[in-house]
Amino acid sequence: MRVYLHTFGCKANQYDTETVRQALEDGGATVVDQWGEADVAVVNSCTVTHVAEAKMRGLVRRMARERRDIRTVVMGCAAALDDGSIARLPGVAGVVGGGDPVAVLKVLDIPAPAAGSPLRAFARGGRGWLKIQDGCDEHCTFCATTLARGDSRSRLPATVVEEARALSQNHAELVLTGVHIGSYGADLEGESLGTLVERLVVEVPEVRFRLSSVEATEVDDRLADLLLDAPEHLAPHLHAPLQSGSDRVLKRMGRHWYTAARYQDRIEWLAARAPAFGLGADVMVGFPGETGADHRATLEVVQSLPFTYLHVFPYSERPGTVGGRLGVPVEPRIAAQRSAELRETGLAKGAAYRAGRDGQYADIVITGRSHGRYQGLTEDYLEIELETEAPVERRFEAELRTANGRIMAEVSGTRCQVSGRMAEPLAPGP
Ligand code: SF4
Repeated sequence: MRVYLHTFGCKANQYDTETVRQALEDGGATVVDQWGEADVAVVNSCTVTHVAEAKMRGLVRRMARERRDIRTVVMGCAAALDDGSIARLPGVAGVVGGGDPVAVLKVLDIPAPAAGSPLRAFARGGRGWLKIQDGCDEHCTFCATTLARGDSRSRLPATVVEEARALSQNHAELVLTGVHIGSYGADLEGESLGTLVERLVVEVPEVRFRLSSVEATEVDDRLADLLLDAPEHLAPHLHAPLQSGSDRVLKRMGRHWYTAARYQDRIEWLAARAPAFGLGADVMVGFPGETGADHRATLEVVQSLPFTYLHVFPYSERPGTVGGRLGVPVEPRIAAQRSAELRETGLAKGAAYRAGRDGQYADIVITGRSHGRYQGLTEDYLEIELETEAPVERRFEAELRTANGRIMAEVSGTRCQVSGRMAEPLAPGP
């Protein structure tokens, strides 16, 4: 059986698709890159925005139009919230909520592999995602993910360590991912995200770990120490969702666990102690009822903190959430103006940070290769490109020279001119 895989959404979804890929291949199927060559398609869906869901439906229809005999399985978050309309799309043979590979293989009549076999590798790229938990116990009023993925549940530390060991054979960097990783261990005795990371850096020392999206106020002192004192093991980089700098809006969003001031305090404390520190945030614009004063409060918080990139996105009403009933919708024209202002601020801060890295050293992990160029990522989340034919290690140290956006790296004894720019922001959502 030839299977085409397509993933929409966040790293948790991408991880789930890789577990399906491994189960399919272990079950004797062949994964192909084009749906034109496939007998079956597995589409992992996202529900964070209506755009993500519309794209999924568009792809399913197009595949059925171009390959009349294709059988499609739709899995993931939109599938979990399906009202029957996904099941009625052309070519759909099954709708599987969430990311369970066994359930997907069952629809395709492929025997499931032995339960609990760790994920060994990601098909693409020098980095791998390591899912440590799923679900969320919070109920932000704009979020459908928590509805789709259910309550927070942590994987056992021993299982996570075993998988990290397996993945470390193929990846120099592993990104700890999930839906609400800051709540890791809340359902386990004596465990937390800090205790898990501590164990990972001791038991899998050859890998650089990186945190995916984590709430600023959920970075406890144990985790902070690792971020600040062991950058070779835990990348000094935080993607901490802010969403809004207005406490009035945060309350209406249901984000009760922090205020703008608490967020600022935690981030300032961390950033002040790290020589190089990548700092990003999700910022939502246009939440119903958002006023000019709320927007200015958000802008002030963003201007006050050492962000190196920002991910700004407009509020998107989601089925089953209450956000839409909490205030007057913000006019799209005004939301677009506010988004542009925040994005410009983020880009200016990123450029200033990059210039400030001039003459410093970076710990670079190779993340990929295309058109004869290597792509790499520094510990503080700067994406770089290596213009060299020389073979490079999967991880090495480079000296940064950031004159007009270019970076010089010492690679294998040769000085290589490389272009430097900020890494792509993390995918929307957790
Ligand atoms: S936005 Fe994040 S914290 Fe809030 S409910 Fe969704 S997954 Fe949970």
